[in-house]
Amino acid sequence: AKNDDTNQIVVIGLGRFGSSLAAELVRRGSEVLALDSRPAEVQRHADELTHTAVADSTDPESLRQLGVHQFKRAVVAIGTDLEASILTTSLLADFGIPHIWAKATSRQHGRILERVGAHHVVLPEHEMGERVAHLVNGRMLDYIELAEHYALVKTHAPAEAVGTTLGELKLRSKYGVTVVGIKRPGEDFTYATADTPVGQGDTLVVAGTTAQVEAFAERT
Ligand code: ADP
Repeated sequence: AKNDDTNQIVVIGLGRFGSSLAAELVRRGSEVLALDSRPAEVQRHADELTHTAVADSTDPESLRQLGVHQFKRAVVAIGTDLEASILTTSLLADFGIPHIWAKATSRQHGRILERVGAHHVVLPEHEMGERVAHLVNGRMLDYIELAEHYALVKTHAPAEAVGTTLGELKLRSKYGVTVVGIKRPGEDFTYATADTPVGQGDTLVVAGTTAQVEAFAERT
């Protein structure tokens, strides 16, 4: 893992979102300082995190004592306590922390967080809800919107594809989609070329506009 200050991250709030995020950062080799005002939450996650402390993140003195002002990356994972979420984000912005991620529970909340200095706002429940909608009413196995109207999806190979190669299928001219990767049952994903044969039960990852990838998935 990288060994510099971008690899030291402060996570504030150890609810479901913050604790999952902090644990994954540690698994990925980051050094995490995690704070929560509830001792029980801190205790519950202390083993899996690098450093933990019980602290009220709306108190600038507590944050300074813990060295939070020196971090380059911070995540505000407080959701339901709107006041604490906004105050904490603005304190981190006052410290001049250059990369602040903040979790919002509504679009209005997200707009306020941006106003007070969050550089990235995530709306986990809205974003996950929208993503699952694409899976529920379609035939896609997974769906990730990379930008507005541009998506990466995982689908089964279309029936017409079995026994041919990706090149012969002409998916780009027929559907406007690009096959990024392909996977045989039981194997890992590999990159796809025009010569890659398509077999029964193969899984594809394709990129294209939302409308194009959805139309393509309907053919599978
Ligand atoms: P989730 O939906 O991810 O579980 P919650 O909003 O329920 O998110 O949890 C946020 C966490 O943030 C809670 O564990 C809560 O104790 C903590 N928290 C709330 N306010 C503060 C604060 N001022 N300082 C530190 N931690 C806080």
